Amino acid sequence: MRAKPALSLVVPCYNEASGLASFWARAGDALDALGLPAEAVFVDDGSRDATLAVLSALAARDPRVRVVSLSRNFGKEVALAAGLDHASGDAVVPIDADLQHPPELLSELVAKWREGHDVVIALRRDRATDPAARRIASDLFHRLFSRVSAVPVPPGAGDFRLMARPVVEALRAMPERIRYMKGMYAWVGFRTTNVEYDVEERAAGNSRYGLVKLWRLALDGVVSFSSLPLRLSSILGALFALVALAYGGWLVIRTILHGADVPGYASLMVVVLFLGGVQLLSLGVIGEYLGRVYDEVKARPLYVVRTRVGFPPETGN
Ligand code: UDP
Ligand code: MG
Repeated sequence: MRAKPALSLVVPCYNEASGLASFWARAGDALDALGLPAEAVFVDDGSRDATLAVLSALAARDPRVRVVSLSRNFGKEVALAAGLDHASGDAVVPIDADLQHPPELLSELVAKWREGHDVVIALRRDRATDPAARRIASDLFHRLFSRVSAVPVPPGAGDFRLMARPVVEALRAMPERIRYMKGMYAWVGFRTTNVEYDVEERAAGNSRYGLVKLWRLALDGVVSFSSLPLRLSSILGALFALVALAYGGWLVIRTILHGADVPGYASLMVVVLFLGGVQLLSLGVIGEYLGRVYDEVKARPLYVVRTRVGFPPETGN
């Protein structure tokens, strides 16, 4: 019989084969140092390299290692959800597999949890390891997100944090398919505190987040936590309709007083093109929401599990 873990790590892995051994060497030591019954739930997010083989080998050697392998790449947010579903600890800590989140911080996180906090966020002190362009874009996005969303997200907060069981259950009860975790963490609330840490260079390989993936994430974030863009497009629409009405009235009066004149093609063209542009923009905004509504109403399962390794036989869903 294994003791019920007090602490679960959740580690999303996408093509991390080259770095996993050194990750587990450090994370395993950090868990040993805590002296708590612990487990690590690795989620293989449809990796195309030897990640699953490496993880299975780890699981064969260390009973604390559990592996959930997804049927394809679902993205980190969904991989995290799968990990939360499979973690049984009283507290759960999502942590990156690339050692950018120092496992040694666990002792501080656990200490704050013991003091009675439900959420302990590990805030990154600075983003010196990120390329400048990404840093600027991410700052801009963060500012925008804080403006438009109803829930504040502390700057520097990522997925690296400790969450007590009730927090995990609250997150698991959120059924949305489009998961912007940063917003969801903030939305559930709970008694929250922070500790700080320095980000390290990625231990192996490159960031799994290209520009397109980041853009999609940002858009998901704004659209799932704010309807401001929708409201903005209707306000814009109303504004232009009013202006158009006034301009139309003025044109009619001028024609009555001065007779018709053919020139005016330019102004007509400008107005038509401008309004066309605004309409397309608004349609686009509506489309962004509609597409997400469609994804949600289909109510597909969030992820599909291909295999599980290292779990007690009664686990399953
Ligand atoms: N990751 C994942 N699925 C993906 C992309 C990333 O599970 O589709 C994992 C990845 O293996 C790593 C963590 O998410 O453990 C963070 O990814 P990465 O280091 O590429 O992101 P960054 O640190 O650049 O934000
Ligand atoms: Mg990283």
